[in-house]
Amino acid sequence: MAKKRPYEHRKVQKEVKDIEMYQCIVCNMVDAKAHGHHLIPYREGGAANLQNMVTMCPDCHRRYHAGTLNIDIERF
Ligand SMILES: [Zn+2]
Ligand SMILES: [Zn+2]
Repeated sequence: MAKKRPYEHRKVQKEVKDIEMYQCIVCNMVDAKAHGHHLIPYREGGAANLQNMVTMCPDCHRRYHAGTLNIDIERF
């Protein structure tokens, strides 16, 4: 059962997508339905802030979590 995410969380998720113009950091595709991905998972104490979030298109995001995307994400 999924825990409800706090408001702050959703706000930052939208912010990061606005800033990165909904462009996937992996394939550079712009997708209006882009996802916000956490570099450090929320359940592992990852902060809901712009440093911990990146924009991914749904496709790359799914592949990343399926483990079929071989990339090393470094935001800075
Ligand atoms: Zn992508
Ligand atoms: Zn993710």
